Amino acid sequence: MPRKKSKLETYRDKRDFARSPEPAGGGGDWKKRGNPVFVIQQHAASSMHFDLRLEIDGVLVSWAIPKGPSTDPEEKRLAVRTEDHPLEYADFEGTIPEDEYGGGHVIVWDAGPFRNLKRDEEGDEVSLEKCLDNGQVEVWLEGKKIRGGYALVNSKMGGVEKNWLLIKMKDEGADARRNPVSTEPESVLSGRTIEDVRESAEDESA
Ligand code: MN
Repeated sequence: MPRKKSKLETYRDKRDFARSPEPAGGGGDWKKRGNPVFVIQQHAASSMHFDLRLEIDGVLVSWAIPKGPSTDPEEKRLAVRTEDHPLEYADFEGTIPEDEYGGGHVIVWDAGPFRNLKRDEEGDEVSLEKCLDNGQVEVWLEGKKIRGGYALVNSKMGGVEKNWLLIKMKDEGADARRNPVSTEPESVLSGRTIEDVRESAEDESA
C-alpha cells in the first residue's frame, strides 16, 4: 500500500529549507485563529504576482494571480492554482534567495478571516473541499483592503486544468473605481512595500 502523501509534499519537495526562510510547516507553532484565515501575498519573483491563499482543511489552498484581485465585478482575473502551503505561510514576509524556488520578495498585502458562502439547493453549506472538487468556490473575505464576496471558478482556460478565474461578486464590497493593488501597496503586517523589502535585502547583501 502506498503511504498516504502529505498535502504539503509538493510544497516541501520544491524547497530547500536550509536556504529559504520560508516555513516548512507542521511545527505546531501556528496559533489557530477562531475563523479560517485568508491571505493575499504580493510576490516579486521572476514576474510580479499576488498569491491568494485560503485556509481549508489544515493547509493554505493557493492560487497565483498575475494582476492581483479586482474590486470590479466586471473584471475576471486569471488565478492559477499552485501547491498547498502550510498554515504558517500566512505570516511569511521576506526574501527568498534568487536561485531558490519562488526566489524574490514577499509581503502580506492583505489578510483576515473568511467564510464559505456556497449553499446547495436546500440552503445547506457545501464544504470547501467539495467546492474545490467542483471547481466552484464562493467566499466572503474580510480583509483590510479586500472585503466582500469572491467567486473562484475553475474555467480550465486554454485546456489548462490549473487555470481558474477570480471574480468579485456584486455586493457592498464591489467598487469599479477602487484599485487597491496599485493605490494601497503597503503590507498589512509591517507597513512595508515590496520595494522596501527589496531594498533591505539589497542592503544586507551589500
Ligand atoms: Mn508566488
